[in-house]
Amino acid sequence: MKTWKGKRQLAKLEDYEPVIGKERVAAIRELAVPLQGVVIQHINSTAVGGGVAEILKRLVPLMEDVGLVPRWDVLRGTDEFFSITKLFHNAFHGQPVEINECMFDTYREVSRQNFDLVDTTAGFVVLHDQQPLGLAGLRPGHPGDWLWYCHIDPVDVDLRLWDFLRGYAARCDGAVYHLPEYVKELGNRVYVMPPSIDPLSEKNRDVDEEERRTVLARLGVPGDLPLVVQVSRFDRLKDPVGVIRSFRMVRDQVPCRLVLAGGGAGDDPQGLQVLEEVRREAAGDPDIMVLELAPDADLEINVLQRSAAVIVQKSVREGFGLTVTEAMWKSRPVVATPVGGIRIQVLHEETGLAAAGDQSVAEAVVRILKNPGLAAAMGRAGHELVRRNFIIPVYLERWLGMLAAERS
Ligand code: UDP
Repeated sequence: MKTWKGKRQLAKLEDYEPVIGKERVAAIRELAVPLQGVVIQHINSTAVGGGVAEILKRLVPLMEDVGLVPRWDVLRGTDEFFSITKLFHNAFHGQPVEINECMFDTYREVSRQNFDLVDTTAGFVVLHDQQPLGLAGLRPGHPGDWLWYCHIDPVDVDLRLWDFLRGYAARCDGAVYHLPEYVKELGNRVYVMPPSIDPLSEKNRDVDEEERRTVLARLGVPGDLPLVVQVSRFDRLKDPVGVIRSFRMVRDQVPCRLVLAGGGAGDDPQGLQVLEEVRREAAGDPDIMVLELAPDADLEINVLQRSAAVIVQKSVREGFGLTVTEAMWKSRPVVATPVGGIRIQVLHEETGLAAAGDQSVAEAVVRILKNPGLAAAMGRAGHELVRRNFIIPVYLERWLGMLAAERS
């Protein structure tokens, strides 16, 4: 399925002048000059839900705006395939899972069935995460430059799985990681490029007070008490049930409400099961709201994040943690587990509080709720950190630098 057909959604690089300045915008255009007309094909495993789809939705139109010819294609997988790649995802995060040869056979077969997705005219083929990595089997004979972009933390990847996948990854010309400590030795070129958010998207744009109240009311969230909010897919690695446990400790000390909001992702078959677990844990508690969001609930996410007194991200593992970036852009203080990319975003005592475990998370949330001055200062620092490092025009600039390096 081709998910993006060249329709430019809002993004023009010049729209970001108020955020990064005219000169920086001009410099980015300059970087794109040698890449005019080059086809770049992005392939991932879902059009909606999760961080990669979120990034591509904004990056692809901007790449077009600066003169590349981007396309975005989504792997056609079966339910069985996505159950297997979800297991692989968990195995990347070091969770104990049973992986067998049969799974590898299915993976190879689905990869083969998707070979026709690859654009033979592409100057660059970018495989996002492990699901489409099997397409690198096609790499020999294809004239383009291939990149594997690993968006998750691969440090504790299951060795059997990595033995299987590394052959594909090594066939790519380069590999891209979010953090230096994620780099795997593959013998190809290595790039480190954390992801970004789009400050102008529906999810991150400014919202005035009237609109904020209207959307909050539509979601049925009362505005009478401070809100503690976690926005995330319902995934055990985001520990939503742990958030509820922490919240109950917080509420014993400060009156507040908890909002757990999220939906599923097309490539995550476990989501419904986890949502059920969360609902069971929250059942009958009038201060806990579990909101199941539609895939296009961008404004709702925006409003929930903006309305939070504290944003929590109690992830067990996290590739980068775009929900944290989004919250910080909105000048919200964040309490988060210092894992993966959260560590370069939530700078302890500066942009938020790093906390691990139910009790510590609860204590950190209480501290922020009781200290509005601290909350405001952290919010300001967080916004600036994101503006400098993790917004889409800066990300595009890094992409253009990487593509130029690949061609040289
Ligand atoms: N997201 C969403 N709807 C949801 C849950 C999450 O649109 O119901 C978005 C969220 O706003 C963020 C991305 O999906 O932009 C999640 O990225 P993150 O890096 O936080 O985690 P991932 O889901 O990739 O593990």
